[in-house]
Amino acid sequence: MFRTPRVPAATALLTALLVGFGVVAGVAGCGKAGSPPGKGPAADELPTYQVARDFRLPASPTWTRAKKRGYFVVGVKEDQPYLGQRDPATGVYSGFDIEIARMMSASLGLDPRTIRFRTIASANRETALQNGQIDYYVGTYTINDNRKKLVGFAGPYYMAGQSLLVRRDENDIHGPEDLTGRRVCSAAGSTPYQRIKADYPTAVLVAYDTYSVCVDNLLTYQVDAVTTDDAILIGYAAKAPDELKVVGRPFSKEPYGIGVPRGDTALRFAMDDALEARQKNGDWKRAYEATLGLSGVPAPQPPPIDRYPAS
Ligand code: GLU
Repeated sequence: MFRTPRVPAATALLTALLVGFGVVAGVAGCGKAGSPPGKGPAADELPTYQVARDFRLPASPTWTRAKKRGYFVVGVKEDQPYLGQRDPATGVYSGFDIEIARMMSASLGLDPRTIRFRTIASANRETALQNGQIDYYVGTYTINDNRKKLVGFAGPYYMAGQSLLVRRDENDIHGPEDLTGRRVCSAAGSTPYQRIKADYPTAVLVAYDTYSVCVDNLLTYQVDAVTTDDAILIGYAAKAPDELKVVGRPFSKEPYGIGVPRGDTALRFAMDDALEARQKNGDWKRAYEATLGLSGVPAPQPPPIDRYPAS
């Protein structure tokens, strides 16, 4: 459980985050969901996506099942500002990943308003796709060869890089080489966690299910840094600019993909086509500007789609 914070500003912020969202249970150290971030953009400020008419993809078992059911079930994150966040009052999800999920549903012929979102933590993504709990996953999910043995990836649709979040009053951490003997927090089952473990073994690594719990731990001086993708950390820093800052340069490449069941190559290629089309017609950029762009980073050029062959 969490100890008494040493800094009043951190206490006030933490209390505001927790009380404001009515989630006093499951705070730092309990391994449950952390403090949810503030509200995302209002629905009327978001782009809408043309739903493909008479679209069919009978070669995809996932699409066939979803079509019969009438909607897609999509795995996402709920505590990553500007990327995937759930408003606890309304249950509405918003963010760039959520927009990508909506675009895909529309391109595959199912109205995005019908999507059922399920919050799935980093460590549980592969299992959720393997056991059919979700049809696809959009949530800061790095494409890599190890994961490709377990799931398929459409994309990439965005390029992130691992970085570090520290408290504003921290002056000694500028990069991963400064982590010796310091407590650094990341999410179990994530690539940033693996990288610190493998490449910076003198850091004291702490793992929780979610990054928002790590941020709570940072604000209450339980850890000295949080590490994950810059896109995620910039969001937390933007929500608490007086308390937190992102330091140093990104020290990895994290290409974000849409996770699909491994054998469903038809679905993967259809989503690759859809991503390309949405980049070309401006939907990708509009979605970025209405979500991740609000954290202050202008729209980058999206990375090229990697249509790797079926294996
Ligand atoms: N992109 C990294 C990963 O897929 C970190 C973010 C996350 O855990 O979702 O592991």
